[in-house]
Amino acid sequence: MSPFIAGALILALAGCSSPPLAGPERDKTYAITVLHTNDHHGRFWKNRDGEYGMAARKTVVDAIRAEVALAGGHSLLLDGGDVNTGVPESDLQDAVPDFKGMNLLGYDAMAVGNHEFDKSPAVLAMQRQLARFPLLSANIYRQGERLFDGYKIFSLGGVRIAVMGLTTEDTQRLGNPENMQGLEFRSPILEAKKLVPELRDKADVVIAATHMGHYADGQHGNQAPGDVEMARAVPGIDLVVGGHTQNPACMRAENVLDTAYVPAGPCQPDRQNGAWIVQAHEWGKYVGRADFQYRNGEFKLVKYGLIPINLKMPDAAGNITVASSTYAAPITENAEMLALLMPYQDFGLQKLQVEVGRSDAKFEGDRFVVRKQPTNLGLLIGLAMIDKTRADFAVVNAGGIRDSLPAGVITYKDVLKVQPFGNTLVTLDLTGREVLDFLQVATRLGSGSGGFPHLAGVELITASGTILQARIRGEFVDPTKTYQMVINNFMAVGGDGYPKMAVHPSFVNTGFVDADVLRAYIAARSPLRVADFSPKLHLDAAPIQ
Ligand SMILES: [Zn+2]
Repeated sequence: MSPFIAGALILALAGCSSPPLAGPERDKTYAITVLHTNDHHGRFWKNRDGEYGMAARKTVVDAIRAEVALAGGHSLLLDGGDVNTGVPESDLQDAVPDFKGMNLLGYDAMAVGNHEFDKSPAVLAMQRQLARFPLLSANIYRQGERLFDGYKIFSLGGVRIAVMGLTTEDTQRLGNPENMQGLEFRSPILEAKKLVPELRDKADVVIAATHMGHYADGQHGNQAPGDVEMARAVPGIDLVVGGHTQNPACMRAENVLDTAYVPAGPCQPDRQNGAWIVQAHEWGKYVGRADFQYRNGEFKLVKYGLIPINLKMPDAAGNITVASSTYAAPITENAEMLALLMPYQDFGLQKLQVEVGRSDAKFEGDRFVVRKQPTNLGLLIGLAMIDKTRADFAVVNAGGIRDSLPAGVITYKDVLKVQPFGNTLVTLDLTGREVLDFLQVATRLGSGSGGFPHLAGVELITASGTILQARIRGEFVDPTKTYQMVINNFMAVGGDGYPKMAVHPSFVNTGFVDADVLRAYIAARSPLRVADFSPKLHLDAAPIQ
């Protein structure tokens, strides 16, 4: 039988989960390959250096699927969620190109990620309609019913494979409450505990497609538990295809993550309580490939690897350009995928020229000004960050402000000139003591440097550069109380001289892109009056000296 006929049979069987599917034959070895991605975040198109993109991804996926089928095996293509949010060309089109691209790639299922709730329920409904594969989540409920299918059972040559979806319960905390009204995010671990025994009855293999995060050794800090914690708590899972933490889940030793993983190098996936745990970094930078053998009830991993999708080597100075060489042999882009996506890419670029709002005067972002003194643009950006995250105060590094906003019409392109890096917002819950310490470091990041801080929501009382007190929401900071701060991910890793807050236990990368947050804030308040954003209005009688 040709591999193409075999493929058609797989699809036909997968469509019906009742009556019970026939099981695998005794003493027969089945080759099953699971391909996986996660945290796509709007990257349907390659970046300007030619890295990743769905067209090159399709070349790789097609080649593996053909190779597996020719050898008599079967394959599944799964995603760990967060298709939405990350680049304007996708965000402006509600990730339609991304879901169409996933259809053409032939995804079999995906987990629902927290960023699937960034847009309105109507957009999510449209995306579900568009997807020719199920969005799975067993632990999201509305009025006592699951909002999505909790699982789907596939029959691959007779081996019944249950794929269960799970979503981080942090979604409720991370996202916009307006888009989640009436929804209940139950504990994915408790849900899996109930569901897995049921699936073990119906299927030969149980895979969890999750969007919960991979925390090495289960060290999840004050974020919700992730894949490691779930696998330890729930027996009977063969494989976890994860997402959310956006790391390659490659281990250096048992329970120790290889934080210096180099593309094209060997990757040892995590293993907990009999379950393999895999995650393919983010943005389609890799396609993960797990080759299994199924025989008489045993599902054995025979080979694993992360295939880099045209990722490029930085030069000695850390720069990557379109001319840089790739870590592995260059991958050509699939023509059919290019033809599908090109009109969306062009339309997205055009849409960047569209007006998002207006202003009665210029917002000051000149490099030589913003690195020396607070400006209306610094305050506008900070207030937008507070508005999006509901944090108590924001600190904006001057180095992250790259241009002014013009008087009159403001386009998305203008906003992207101000914030071109695609930085994401990070929140931290700090004690008053930690707040004062952080602000003290910030105010000492010299005038003229990229570290010069723009503040919103907090007023400082200083003497000779030393902070005597700070006020948040009109009250003096209490060293023992907790306050939420919002900064960007660049600052959080120590960029521009800031304290490295990414190691703080309360660190949360919200995934919200700075320019998109600013665009939405401007659009909602347009026309803007520059006088309303005078930083002086927000400073104490004894401002920063
Ligand atoms: Zn996520």
